[in-house]
Amino acid sequence: MESDNKMMNKPAHILLIYTGGTIGMIKDFETGTLKNFNFDELLDQIPEINFLYCTIETISFKEPIDSSNMNPDYWVELASLIENNYEDFDGFVVLHGSDTMSYTSSALSFMLENLSKPVIFTGSQLPIGDLRTDAKENLITSIQIAALQDHGKPFIQEVGLYFEYKLYRANRTTKINAEHFQAFSSLNYPPLVESGVHLKVNKEALLKRENKEPLIVHKNLVSHILLIKMFPGIDMTTIDHLFSFQQMKGMVLETYGSGNVTNRQWFIDAIKKIVDRGIPVVNVTQCSGGSVNMGMYDTSAHLKKIGVISGKDCTTEAALAKMMYLLGEGIPSDKFKSAFETSLRGEMA
Ligand code: ASP
Repeated sequence: MESDNKMMNKPAHILLIYTGGTIGMIKDFETGTLKNFNFDELLDQIPEINFLYCTIETISFKEPIDSSNMNPDYWVELASLIENNYEDFDGFVVLHGSDTMSYTSSALSFMLENLSKPVIFTGSQLPIGDLRTDAKENLITSIQIAALQDHGKPFIQEVGLYFEYKLYRANRTTKINAEHFQAFSSLNYPPLVESGVHLKVNKEALLKRENKEPLIVHKNLVSHILLIKMFPGIDMTTIDHLFSFQQMKGMVLETYGSGNVTNRQWFIDAIKKIVDRGIPVVNVTQCSGGSVNMGMYDTSAHLKKIGVISGKDCTTEAALAKMMYLLGEGIPSDKFKSAFETSLRGEMA
């Protein structure tokens, strides 16, 4: 794939955006904690990128962050950086902490409508200066993937997440491990590219652009959302307290198995009250794989009846991002269910 790329295409022009994260951190020897350090020093650690078949420019957040501090304002900053540089580059690689990478990359997938260039998120479990680091492979291969072209057009035309030899569709991923180099999984969708001796692109799995419309960047995100994870023992007092949140604009309910919750009357009434207030409630499963199927069991049929939206096989990260995006678009409550249950960026089956 890389040799074909060289024979058939001009070198791609890639923008590398550094937001922060372990990949660029260094140990503070006084406190023993990992802190952000200078982006230019980061690039000095990998002279290998000068040998890649592409040209690279870099840009960094003024103050790089640990991604645990990520929020929708930073998502807008990132989307604006891509928007402002969109015409000048063939692809974008975003260096980001792994902790909230699935949230940010899911959000960007909704914010960047009609994307026709690759936006590849990556990071690492060990800092780039560490002898055993996974950062070099992740970074180098992410740039190579962002630079892959087919007759002058980018192969990847969507937001991806590359980690430990696999490129996934970003809005299908979840961080599953705080220690293994294989930190992410995408149980409901196959990898888009696998990196071995060769880069193997799974063409069938790639998002196909249906139109040639120009990029639209959506920057209105509504984040007054409640995420409720069901657990045996969650009781009426807790639910009443949480559900009385007056500014709430949407709710994501993380349910058991194929979308099941208790069918005790107090719980059904509490959810119905929220739905009757015109607040969208989306049902996603706590399982890492599989789909919500409301009505399969009696313990989900009542949710369907009162108008709860099916998150189908969406991850929690993608469901939250999609909710923020659709609320920001001002979709009226009677249209919200059908808008949410339609796949917009390949985030659901
Ligand atoms: N705490 C770090 C962050 O998310 C972890 C990492 O980069 O992987 O920024």
